Amino acid sequence: MAPMKTIFALASGVGRAGMAVYRLSGPAAGRTLVDLTGRPLPEPRRACRRRLCDAAGDVLDDGLVLWFPAPRSFTGEDVVELHLHGGRAIARALTEALLAAGLEPAEPGEFSRRAFMAGKLDLTQAEAIADLVDAETTAQRRQALRQLEGSLSGLYDDWRERLLRCQAHLEAEIDFSDEDLPDGLGEAARTALAALGEEIGRHLADGRRGERLREGLSVAILGAPNVGKSSLLNRIAGREAAIVSSIAGTTRDIIEVNLDLSGYPVTLADTAGLRDAAEAIEEEGVRRAKARAEIADLRLVVFDAAALPALDPVSLALVDGRSLIVVNKSDLASVTLPERIEGYPVLAVSAENGDGVDGLLAALGEKASELLDGSGAPVISRARHRRALEETETALRRALEASSAELAAEDIRLAGRELGRITGRIDVEEMLDVIFREFCIGK
Ligand code: GDP
Ligand code: ZN
Repeated sequence: MAPMKTIFALASGVGRAGMAVYRLSGPAAGRTLVDLTGRPLPEPRRACRRRLCDAAGDVLDDGLVLWFPAPRSFTGEDVVELHLHGGRAIARALTEALLAAGLEPAEPGEFSRRAFMAGKLDLTQAEAIADLVDAETTAQRRQALRQLEGSLSGLYDDWRERLLRCQAHLEAEIDFSDEDLPDGLGEAARTALAALGEEIGRHLADGRRGERLREGLSVAILGAPNVGKSSLLNRIAGREAAIVSSIAGTTRDIIEVNLDLSGYPVTLADTAGLRDAAEAIEEEGVRRAKARAEIADLRLVVFDAAALPALDPVSLALVDGRSLIVVNKSDLASVTLPERIEGYPVLAVSAENGDGVDGLLAALGEKASELLDGSGAPVISRARHRRALEETETALRRALEASSAELAAEDIRLAGRELGRITGRIDVEEMLDVIFREFCIGK
């Protein structure tokens, strides 16, 4: 194997800032720190103030340095952290000095990748770091933190361990039964596998809460042209995000606004009016609006108070359990507003003067919490995990129906490999460990 390169990167944000943190990882990290400071390595894991100079003796900056010798570091390698002043000139000079010393700029995610390779993190935890950095709301932050702390690792490792044990038992039976092989699965293995399959099934039936939370809940504002969808979005966003016009059909594209509703991430999308478009370009907008309505987690179906008691039939057809019914232009209503439409409560608002918008946001926040809050049990946070879990479940079901012990063992092996893919723990050695530990084969 080629000697491990020593990498470096600016770990904090880019540009003008009070401080900038640089991270170095690899075998040359310690030597580089000695060269930069002209002093011996500081005590491990203690911040020390040092002046940093390049090879020509030119002072780069004065800051704090930290030394994390392997293996007690983020990557498991020798790591150095430099806490310097922010600023492009320092960044440039330091980068030049590090390149001159033979270090290489890190690839995206390379520190976490090295941490994974060193067994410091599994894949769900590495993904959680990315999610934590991207988290925009409280609920997203909490989910990422729980995952980083190993909520999913623990669950999937436990399941995999149970699978490996079943597999080991079964393979021992196959290898060591005298003449005739046992038919299919033994009773104990069958019970254990069926229970595991049920647990995985329950975990899969989480209403996609974790994935929705990661991605943000998607809410589409739907309704006939001119009911005030764009005005409502603008009112909610508190800024002029969409074109507001009194000429029907001018909101042709979809405009999105990201909201933080008491900790829940919500993406609100304005759509073109739902009606039979006269122009081709409008037709495209209507098509997109309908597509958006299909994929939305929630729909705000907007009606015009000024048009009451008439209700647009195309919009009415979209009302279902995923919808909140909004009657806009309450300031113009000449008749009493209905309390319910299609059996659902009506939220009266005026995008014009802001009446009822707080109530609408509260109702939306409540819906978001219904969809995103769970029992606190770990939830699937990525499609990648879901796919692997579905494969696991399928393989388990096949194992339970297998006609011979060999076929069952093969399916259990596949199930275990799929689970191992999620955390990145796919290791034959481990399988052997289980066999040897439990059965003392070939002592
Ligand atoms: P959209 O086609 O559904 O997006 O409707 P717009 O937001 O473009 O609004 C259409 C027209 O209705 C514009 O002239 C708005 O100023 C007006 N409008 C929107 N909301 C209200 C409201 O709450 N009250 C009143 N009086 N007019 C509104
Ligand atoms: Zn509009």
